[in-house]
Amino acid sequence: MPLEKKTVTCQCGATYQIDKPSHWCTACGRQIFYSEGARRRHRWDTYYVWGALLSVIAFLVYIFIEMIAVPLVGRGG
Ligand SMILES: [Zn+2]
Repeated sequence: MPLEKKTVTCQCGATYQIDKPSHWCTACGRQIFYSEGARRRHRWDTYYVWGALLSVIAFLVYIFIEMIAVPLVGRGG
């Protein structure tokens, strides 16, 4: 859904006319947001990505333990 064009000011002072929920500031490289709601949504997206990443790492650790550590420790048992 296209947003109405809105002027937002970056923390570095650069202003942009944006019609998207977020935009990268070309002056300082920071991400600027259309609104506080868009910023919050972006934060939850970030949490979701981290959660998925941690799940993958946990799964790999589990596989590692099952495939490598258990056969080594459990030998002769
Ligand atoms: Zn900036």
